[in-house]
Amino acid sequence: MELKTDLYIDGQWVKGSGTLPVYDPSTGEVIANVATADDAQCDAAIDAAHRAFPAWAKTAPRLRSEILRKAFEIMISEADYIAELISRENGKVFSDAKGEVLYAAEFFRWFAEEAVRTPGDFRHSPSGDKRILVTHQPIGVSLLITPWNFPAAMATRKLGPALAAGCTTILKAASETPLTALHVVDILHRAGVPKGVVNFVLPAKSGPQVSKMLHDPRVRNLSFTGSTEVGRILIRESADNVVRTSMELGGNAPFLVLDDANVDEAVKGAMVAKMRNGGAACTAANRILVARNVAEEFTIKFTKAMTDLKVAPGMDAGAQLGASVSVKERNKIAELVDSAVSAGGKLHSGGKSPDGPGAFYPATVLTVEKGNPILGCEVFGPVAPIVIFDTDAEAITLANDTEYGLISYVYSSDLARAIRTAEAMETGMVAINRGVVSDPAAPFGGVKQSGLGREGGFAGIHEFLETKYIGVEI
Ligand code: NAD
Repeated sequence: MELKTDLYIDGQWVKGSGTLPVYDPSTGEVIANVATADDAQCDAAIDAAHRAFPAWAKTAPRLRSEILRKAFEIMISEADYIAELISRENGKVFSDAKGEVLYAAEFFRWFAEEAVRTPGDFRHSPSGDKRILVTHQPIGVSLLITPWNFPAAMATRKLGPALAAGCTTILKAASETPLTALHVVDILHRAGVPKGVVNFVLPAKSGPQVSKMLHDPRVRNLSFTGSTEVGRILIRESADNVVRTSMELGGNAPFLVLDDANVDEAVKGAMVAKMRNGGAACTAANRILVARNVAEEFTIKFTKAMTDLKVAPGMDAGAQLGASVSVKERNKIAELVDSAVSAGGKLHSGGKSPDGPGAFYPATVLTVEKGNPILGCEVFGPVAPIVIFDTDAEAITLANDTEYGLISYVYSSDLARAIRTAEAMETGMVAINRGVVSDPAAPFGGVKQSGLGREGGFAGIHEFLETKYIGVEI
């Protein structure tokens, strides 16, 4: 299969104004050079999306649906190739990468199904002499910005609903992992997306060039997934033209093991919640809160499961924990652990970067006291700080003591108690007795500083639709 490295504008692969190296973080070697876009090329992408919008918005939803369904089928048939691409540029192990591709493809399938089901409303006014018609129309040119940690799924989770709704798009992937996103764009090209409907640019300088794009009146919508820090900047940048925004931002998920939890199940769940994607997930369990009576058993079993993981380059047979996306990211993780230990944290495993090439960091478990600095940060790696608590009320207070509010996890053998706890969590999602809840059919998103809006589920398409009310005198 041909590696795509050019920009994609108005249905054509075009050379960039410069190039950017893409590294394999397992070795530090350059695996490709991808094209970067200058201002004129970003403008050309906006222009193409703007010109394509009226026809795409009017295209029969059935046809839009069929293109997305075709993209789903191509993606599934190329799953192994795409998984390898992800593993090579991102560092995650092949099994995680394959899981991501299957998950990513589901957004094309789900939104193929949603494209033909946009709801409307027709009502009598309370006075009885008027009619209220409510319909939904595509917003327009949408800028989609994605992070490096799920290079396929974060792209399809935006492209799927955008295309289903009838919006035209400009995708800007993370500069660490553009190859996967370029392949996703190529799939849409082969599935028959008309020219101009999907465009791909990699600005040479994200900050100023994205700012310029958000100040172009033709851009009406921004869908961003990334850190809270950059999300805040982009909300500000969007304010001048009142660009509609949806924001999927950072997380710092608490994982509560209540005193009646099945410890073996909780360990299994914690391994998934913490270690999927090598810990580089917005949903990663970053604060493991364990009731005192089960803390010792949980810590011993969890530490064993963590130290049993095979750390190796993502494409090695049997690899379970791959490299971080870059040495810079790995060093951030190491610094957080060092500061946690300096503040009194007790290490049970890991805690030291290995010598040699690659951005590896070992699976690390530590017990910390309330107030340890690591609890206030999003740890984007294989590090699990455990905090012991005495009462459910204390656990809930600890869990909610963060600016983030994406997801929380609750383990208990009493469902009513687990639901009461879930209701007290200040998060957009709660997982009860399971370590992963991501599902294209469910609304994914956070509260507080973890974001605005929802992706997936019935809500996802509405991030790309405006509500229009038509009042009728009868
Ligand atoms: P990031 O915020 O550094 O970058 C995200 C994207 O924004 C990248 O494409 C990057 O090039 C771009 N970007 C960076 N600075 C920019 C600027 N000034 N203007 C315009 N674009 C800019 O995030 P990351 O390191 O790529 O990804 C990790 C973060 O993403 C974590 O915080 C994680 O929690 C979050 N995330 C959230 C979700 C979610 O659904 N809530 C999902 C995945 C990742």
